[in-house]
Amino acid sequence: MHIADILSRDTTTMSFEFFPPKTDSGWESLYRSIAEFAPLEPSFVSVTYGAGGSTRDNTHALVVRLRRETRLEPVPHLTCFGHTRDEISRILELYAGNGVSNVLALRGDPPAGARILALGDFQHAGDLVAFIKREGERLGVNGGRGFGIGVAGFPEGHPETPNTLRQLDHLKAKCDAGADYIVTQLFFDNHAFHDWRARCELAGIRAPIIAGIMPVTSATGLKRMADLAAGTRFPASLLKAIARCRGDAEAIESAGIHWATEQCRDLLDSDVAGIHFYTLNKSDATKRIYKALGVRMAPR
Ligand code: FAD
Repeated sequence: MHIADILSRDTTTMSFEFFPPKTDSGWESLYRSIAEFAPLEPSFVSVTYGAGGSTRDNTHALVVRLRRETRLEPVPHLTCFGHTRDEISRILELYAGNGVSNVLALRGDPPAGARILALGDFQHAGDLVAFIKREGERLGVNGGRGFGIGVAGFPEGHPETPNTLRQLDHLKAKCDAGADYIVTQLFFDNHAFHDWRARCELAGIRAPIIAGIMPVTSATGLKRMADLAAGTRFPASLLKAIARCRGDAEAIESAGIHWATEQCRDLLDSDVAGIHFYTLNKSDATKRIYKALGVRMAPR
């Protein structure tokens, strides 16, 4: 189903992100998690794409398998960094041929330590959006409407564009190129999200904005998030809650899930278009948040 139809069907979309594992045991555990996620009836699930190349085929395999074997609506991430137009075309043909309706269009980042030489045929995610739009129409996806297209947004800024007004211009350009929705980078400070959403509105960005939430479930996980999502602010109140746990792993998990639950409650109260959970392929935290919020089934 085209993402625009999903967004108008669901008052608030609830969605989950998976990544393709690298080991056999990782795959087994992912399929167990998927079986646990399915009864929550997410609006869609997304599958990340390794910009470095190693897990790309696994992304395609997982997306096609989800499409064929489950009732979940899979949305593949697709990064254009280092890709040629022909390569992207072949991937889109594979998805079109397997009934995939939507794609999250991203630039991706060069692998750590790589020299920025092999940019490929695309400079920015906006170029990929325009290309996916044309290709989706050519391939007759969604009855000729083309692919539903998502793009990334950064409530706390993207490190490569310190000028935050210009950043919104770039986001608007992605929407004008054909993006149907925006999914945000993870954040812990809802004030930052609300303020950014208001600035998007002022900048003329009308695409629905889906908030990205990642519950902290361990002290090491929190450190990893700080590395992966550069620039994300960790509010003192969250850090104090973690510190009070004095290293007790179970207590840290509860404190992190409590924080994410409160974030989601506030987002639901303020009529956010959707909440996207960065699940790390584990269902426990999301299930606990659902239960606490009383949204076991996606609100439709
Ligand atoms: P762009 O929109 O191209 O932006 C990148 C930078 O270029 C920004 O600073 C922007 O302001 C600037 N810019 C944009 N357009 C222009 C222009 N026309 N002129 C000048 N500057 C411009 N990475 C992966 O490798 N795999 C994934 O599966 C993945 N999934 C993600 C999912 C989400 C929801 C998010 C938020 C990020 C994800 N990423 C993923 C990371 C993402 O690829 C990086 O954060 C990347 O640095 C930015 O991608 P983008 O699509 O926003 O790029």
